[in-house]
Amino acid sequence: MIDIEKFQHSDCIPDRQEIIELLSLKSPVDIERLRYSAEQLLLRLRGKEVYFRGLIEFSNVCSCDCYYCGIRGSNTDVFRYTLSKDQIVQSAAWCAQQGYGSIVLQSGERSDVAFADFVEQCIREIKDKTISRQIPEGLGITLSCGEQTAQVYQRWFDAGAHRYLLRIESSTPELFAALHPPVQKLQPRIEALRTLKKIGYMVGTGVMIGLPGQTIENLADDILFYRAIDADMIGMGPYIVHNATPLAHFKDEIAAQSEMIFKLSQKMIAVTRLTLKNVNIAASTALQAMKEDGRETGLTFGANVIMPQVTPVEVRKNYLLYEGKPCLDENAEQCRTCLALRVAAVGRTIAYNCWGDRG
Ligand code: SF4
Repeated sequence: MIDIEKFQHSDCIPDRQEIIELLSLKSPVDIERLRYSAEQLLLRLRGKEVYFRGLIEFSNVCSCDCYYCGIRGSNTDVFRYTLSKDQIVQSAAWCAQQGYGSIVLQSGERSDVAFADFVEQCIREIKDKTISRQIPEGLGITLSCGEQTAQVYQRWFDAGAHRYLLRIESSTPELFAALHPPVQKLQPRIEALRTLKKIGYMVGTGVMIGLPGQTIENLADDILFYRAIDADMIGMGPYIVHNATPLAHFKDEIAAQSEMIFKLSQKMIAVTRLTLKNVNIAASTALQAMKEDGRETGLTFGANVIMPQVTPVEVRKNYLLYEGKPCLDENAEQCRTCLALRVAAVGRTIAYNCWGDRG
């Protein structure tokens, strides 16, 4: 039987075979040992604090066509929106007033000059408006705006963004190819992550769990990929089917496995924590879409970041990457209160007015 507890030590890193064994654990007793070990490691390295990143989904306009995504460019049933600069800055300022410390500016992917200029202006204005005694360097800004040129990444970094989230969805080339049209390739995405790292960003990536055809070995390779690129942040979650996508025919198959996929998602958080040690790991909203207490349990398996919804309620329903996304009707204040209770329910505390970067 595998010695799970030894991975609580900072210098004991599971190899590929051990990662596979950990992800394959089945008995409730073993899964509890895995959860406990990941939680203990997190508490020792990072403490009880959970970091909030206020999530502003500022545009659902996208030129990509990912097969799993509800707002993919070719879905003509989606009402497309882009928030104004004032709306974005106001949402960010609200986060600063609540003491969130950081925001995430997320959008579909666009590569035109006007978009690059717009994002840069938003970053500069947010920085300008959120410097205070509590956060002397202004809000920490994470961008999640897809693949861009090195020049654009540099401009946004120089404007004040310092984290970038670019998920790869799977590090296995065959799975990546099954999720994307041929023009969207895995290798340039990996190169983009390396470029971001070179520029100086804290880099985040992640995958979907429970994809059709995905194996435990594939997921083990995803964790090793996180390690190989020295990821600072991980955002991953269960695959949930969207009806208006080319993968919709997998809906019944995925639904039949939902309990297994949920448990596997929890184990992925724990094993990622035990492998990568002091990184930031998000408890994703998709976990809550599967189970009401999904995000809290993500925290107990080793996650330490939550992204409260700050996107204005009137456009939020137009940013549905998957079906059943929770928190569509609650306003930002309600999300804040709800999440504070959820964090407290698992014995953790919210770290206010700090960026909470990887140590
Ligand atoms: S996952 Fe992102 S890049 Fe892909 S289609 Fe959806 S919004 Fe666009």
